[in-house]
Amino acid sequence: MSAMAVENNAINLGQGFPDTDGPEDIRQVAADASKEGPNQYPPMMGIPDLRKSTANHNNYFYDLGINWKTETMVTSGATEALAACIFGLIEPGDEAVMIEPLYDCYLPILRRAGGIPRMVKLEPPNWALPYDDIEAAFSKKTKLLVINSPMNPSAKVFSLDELTFIAELLKRYDAYAICDEVYEHLVYDKRKHIPLMTLPGMRDRCVRISSAGKTFSMTGWKVGYSVASPNILAAAAKAHQFLTFATPPNLQKAVAYGLNKDESYFRSISANMVLKRNRLADGLSEIGFDVMESQGTYFLAADYQPLGFKGDDVQFCTYLTREAGVSAVPFSAFYQGDEINNFIRFCYCKDDALLDAALGKLKAYLGKC
Ligand code: PMP
Repeated sequence: MSAMAVENNAINLGQGFPDTDGPEDIRQVAADASKEGPNQYPPMMGIPDLRKSTANHNNYFYDLGINWKTETMVTSGATEALAACIFGLIEPGDEAVMIEPLYDCYLPILRRAGGIPRMVKLEPPNWALPYDDIEAAFSKKTKLLVINSPMNPSAKVFSLDELTFIAELLKRYDAYAICDEVYEHLVYDKRKHIPLMTLPGMRDRCVRISSAGKTFSMTGWKVGYSVASPNILAAAAKAHQFLTFATPPNLQKAVAYGLNKDESYFRSISANMVLKRNRLADGLSEIGFDVMESQGTYFLAADYQPLGFKGDDVQFCTYLTREAGVSAVPFSAFYQGDEINNFIRFCYCKDDALLDAALGKLKAYLGKC
């Protein structure tokens, strides 16, 4: 869709990246650090500054009691952490429970590791976890579950009840959880992000992954930081050693500085983003979309059927890009099957003026469906 957006000179509300460039003070630290050096291979598990601030951040926000020397790992983005954990923990033939709609890299990495996915499907409008289905997806072959909360693309934040149910299954089947929590600080309307790792019995079963890309709006930096008990991390580190080995030291130094900011900074991220969510959600509702509640992330899901368009979500996104000049992502891209094909994902981490321009274009064209 991004390529089609460029081809058609459309406003790209498809791909999830902010159009600001991240906090200037953090960028300055990176610039100074690259000037001052060192610029040679940093330690494989990350520079001590970033490992310490990762532990402090987890301990401050979630009281996880993380030991920076044995329980933190820096990777080249959350994506590399996901790959390292999956390659480190999965043996060919192991099963992994995955929850649809799902972020695109999980399945190809799992398959490449020889793992077998067991899919559990969440459906709009509530994206509630189907307890019977997830229980049925577990078996004695289950090695791990991948959970993404706040969740891209549904913008769901998993509830304590749902997490408790998952935790019981993990204990019963002696399985691990890979927790993709890159949107941990983008949760709205007084909701709370609860890491699965904080639930009883989960401290040593989970790896909790986050990313500077989302926390500091610098998706191009690809700096990820994970925490897990030493045994899990040791397995992931073996894969990390040959995936990238290390991440640019100047960026690590700058992210360490960023993670040391005080709590108000992290609270302000969601306070700013929720205004953008409201702006886009209100505008789309006015045009006639049925907009789902976006509880967190950069995204919102919208059903376009009330507008009268008869085609599927890919056709609708193609139409939007070519005719209205606005790009979104068809939801069917996030499912294995094609039953859910009347939803599209919009990204709202954009300038207000750009959001308004996109809404203006949509309003002008959608009368003609
Ligand atoms: N997980 C989710 C759910 C994401 O949305 C993204 C980025 N779009 C990532 C992981 C990847 O993060 P990074 O860019 O740090 O690799």
